[in-house]
Amino acid sequence: MKTYDIIIVGAGPGGLGACLKASSLGLKAALIERRTRLAPLTRACSEGLLHDEFYFGDSVTINKERGAIDFKQTGFSLSYTGKTREVSSLINVSRSGNRMKLVRENGLPLHLVFDKGRYLEENLERAIQAGTSFFPNHNVTGIETSPDGVTVHTDKESFRARFLVAADGHNSLCARFAGFNRERKFYGTLTADCWHITGFEPEETAHIHLLEGSDDPSVFCVCPRVEEGEWSVVISGFARNLEHQKRFEQVQNKSALSKYFKKVQVIRRSACVLNLMEPLKNPCRDNVFIIGDGAWFGQTSNTHAALTGAKAVECIHNALQNSFRGDEVYQPYRNWWTGNFINYLKVPGGANMFELLTANELDEFFSYMPNEIVASMEPKKAQQLLGAFFQKLLPDIQSKNPALVQKIAAIQMQPTDEAWQEKQQTGFPVSSIVE
Ligand SMILES: Cc1cc2nc3c(=O)[nH]c(=O)nc-3n(C[C@H](O)[C@H](O)[C@H](O)COP(=O)(O)OP(=O)(O)OC[C@H]3O[C@@H](n4cnc5c(N)ncnc54)[C@H](O)[C@@H]3O)c2cc1C
Repeated sequence: MKTYDIIIVGAGPGGLGACLKASSLGLKAALIERRTRLAPLTRACSEGLLHDEFYFGDSVTINKERGAIDFKQTGFSLSYTGKTREVSSLINVSRSGNRMKLVRENGLPLHLVFDKGRYLEENLERAIQAGTSFFPNHNVTGIETSPDGVTVHTDKESFRARFLVAADGHNSLCARFAGFNRERKFYGTLTADCWHITGFEPEETAHIHLLEGSDDPSVFCVCPRVEEGEWSVVISGFARNLEHQKRFEQVQNKSALSKYFKKVQVIRRSACVLNLMEPLKNPCRDNVFIIGDGAWFGQTSNTHAALTGAKAVECIHNALQNSFRGDEVYQPYRNWWTGNFINYLKVPGGANMFELLTANELDEFFSYMPNEIVASMEPKKAQQLLGAFFQKLLPDIQSKNPALVQKIAAIQMQPTDEAWQEKQQTGFPVSSIVE
């Protein structure tokens, strides 16, 4: 059986971040991935990058000269030599076409879009060149843990290592096989469909959400792609009977956004089904580290998933160097994870007001909006900025519709973990997954 210091399962952002760190620290690593090619993407993603915004403990900048995505505080760096495109605003549009436009302070782009397929391929190439042994087309089918290491079984062969870094995404089989899901509440199943299209021509290039509140169980968003004139249309939701294609046609033909859809051509489609569970409060034990989306309940993101990989490997390297035993092996990563991820759950305003107000309430709410609102994509800062803005706006709404203000205030106060529990009401938990 092939043996390594570390086995990394999954060549998404998380697994590639782990590989790059492992090779830079001189660890012998195997990367196991069920796909043969990482690009083009088959898993739905809007391919956005939060640029220069503090998020999950660090912020990233693009260094075009070095072809790198740099983490400012950690000093960790990923490769990316492709194009990026600035997206200056996020425009929420209500059913009858009222708008709420969010921009960032000082004219900075709200976020960037990039070519995620290229990003994955470039970092895979770099990891292989640095010494990672890559096993594509290998599907993990089981794992066994023992005090001195982990055995990973795939549909082709088995591998042995001292540690396993499980970066196999939201529906992590490794987390399930190693018993981590027994500790988690199951929130529900999200389905998402993504169409890459041309033929969408709004007045300004922005990330656009069509919001029909609780009247529509799906979230509809159109985001610019890195190539001029191309857009990602993403439809997602928790309801069991969502008909994505029908919804897409309905928005094209009969909605506040219809006028922007001209001669639509679909370039490619991707999709995903995500089983969303409570975040892992303890993502590492028994020689196994669950990282990236596999340990979280939402999206750790295209950048910060990689950071979780790098941080986990740093912790493993430290434990090997110092011959740590028991809990001292895991404590540094556990502390970092808890400090930067788990504490986000306590940010009030985690509930999505745009899903909970009705279409009519959103129409009315947006009718009070000024031309632009200064916002941020960083959850805590967004909360502060929007909180201050709503404080100014609410007296006016209060005088016209006090019930609406009351409803908004109640939604704003709900912590994220409570809000996510509500998804259970609309989702379709598959109990066998949480065993
Ligand atoms: C609709 C949608 C839009 C998004 N938009 C954005 C965005 O704009 N910006 C952003 O930053 N993030 C976005 N995200 C989130 C982002 O895609 C994830 O946070 C990120 O990809 C997580 O990386 P990961 O490495 O943890 O997991 P993944 O990217 O899911 O990678 C997991 C890897 O493991 C492999 N794998 C799984 N099971 C096995 C197995 N049994 N054996 C072997 N290999 C296996 C998979 O093939 C895959 O390569 C979006 C997500 C969705 C669903």
